[in-house]
Amino acid sequence: MIYPIVAYGDPVLKKRGEEVTVGYPKLDVLVKDMFETMYNAKGVGLAAPQIGKSIRLFVVDASPFAEDEPELKTFVKVFINPVIVEEEGEEWYFNEGCLSIPQIREDVLRNPSVLLRYQDENFNFHEEKFHGIAARIIQHEHDHIEGKLFIDRLSVFKRRLLQGKLTDISKGKVETTYKMRFYNKK
Ligand code: ZN
Repeated sequence: MIYPIVAYGDPVLKKRGEEVTVGYPKLDVLVKDMFETMYNAKGVGLAAPQIGKSIRLFVVDASPFAEDEPELKTFVKVFINPVIVEEEGEEWYFNEGCLSIPQIREDVLRNPSVLLRYQDENFNFHEEKFHGIAARIIQHEHDHIEGKLFIDRLSVFKRRLLQGKLTDISKGKVETTYKMRFYNKK
């Protein structure tokens, strides 16, 4: 099932997600639907709040970046209850976009390496280090489950410049190839 993607302006995107507990109803179906929703929108990551579920879960498929980093060809993963243990390295700019904020892309500064503790779809624990684009996608998606968006990391000046566009998005005045859900649509 393809979910509509929650657009900027919906309070669910500002909320910190709840832990996912063992026995969460139909988690396998939800994960499958999240991948389907992400692929339909041509995204490389999707967090549960973006389909209106305030829980600590996101999915990633970084294979579109395999041209830049060949090992990403098979980087398809489910992250449950992820915790960023540590971020390191000299911060670098990467041009980020977000399915919840269509048609806006900005360079965002973040660390290049992240040490992540998380559970997979079978609730097995992992602690793993990610670098480069993989780390970047994880950091962006992890922000979502913390109720944060990439635009929150821009300068006040940059955000002010984007305000008109953001207001339009929240009201549904934006074209997308995928279905969206607008909180402020009259
Ligand atoms: Zn996003």
